[in-house]
Amino acid sequence: MKNRLLLCLFIMSACSSGLKQQPIAENPVQVIEEKVVQSEVSPTGVQTFPGRVRWVSFVVPKGWEGARLKCKDQFIKHVPYRPGFHYAYIAETYFSDVEKHSCALKLKDREIPVIEFLVKPYAYKSEKLKVDYRKISLSKKDQKRAAREQRILNEIYTQSAATPYFSTPFRAPLTSHITSVYGTRRVYNNAHRGQHLGTDFRAAVGVPIPATNRGKVLFADDLFYTGWTVIIDHGLDIFSVYGHLSEVKTEAGAIVNGGDIIGLSGSTGRSSGPHLHWGIKIHGNYVDGYSLIEESEKQFRK
Ligand SMILES: [Zn+2]
Repeated sequence: MKNRLLLCLFIMSACSSGLKQQPIAENPVQVIEEKVVQSEVSPTGVQTFPGRVRWVSFVVPKGWEGARLKCKDQFIKHVPYRPGFHYAYIAETYFSDVEKHSCALKLKDREIPVIEFLVKPYAYKSEKLKVDYRKISLSKKDQKRAAREQRILNEIYTQSAATPYFSTPFRAPLTSHITSVYGTRRVYNNAHRGQHLGTDFRAAVGVPIPATNRGKVLFADDLFYTGWTVIIDHGLDIFSVYGHLSEVKTEAGAIVNGGDIIGLSGSTGRSSGPHLHWGIKIHGNYVDGYSLIEESEKQFRK
């Protein structure tokens, strides 16, 4: 009970810190806490956690193949799986409430519920960082640049293909030490709070970075926050992002296979040292890339 109360407090503080997912300076200094809280509620639906994605297949009655799948307030892309079934990847945001919710097929004014989700609590790690605020506060010029780039990125994330480019599970881009896991809460100079919504891998400058799966490159350029960055659309509103690269080795419009080298690691943009920042964005929200790896293995399990 005490743990659940603490978690509620944590979720409130995470929510009140705002929904903006702005990358700040990278690299942890000190891990100060680690705990996972499991809820006692017995699951009646698909169990999931904030910041994770689940792969689900569900029955689609005859005549409902063209129906839209609505989860919370979003329409989710879904595709045929085997006769009578479709599948979809359902992502919970880092800020998702701990609750039950269901997804429904909608056809004109008719609606049938198909999956129920039970979002259980999960306490992410926390780390303390000391930063120089002169490096965090942006000049007017930088603010303008960052805002302009955000508009370009927002547009890119509306361009996902309706069907998947991939036909094998997702893979982590590197196997090196992870210096910051997804969801790590960051306490800057004992005050400023944020969340790290990607995975940082240890990588010296110049390490070849492979694509995490097959997809279409929608962006390969220099950004204020994440430096040289590659964004790949895998279809179904699933995107992978590779940041702080020293060099990009692909271009917008290219179709890449999983394992193809799309760039070299580096420390460009707002980064305090060489590493790879790997992000997975699904339905507009960053989720833990390892949950996508796990769930995509279910899709291709024979
Ligand atoms: Zn990062």
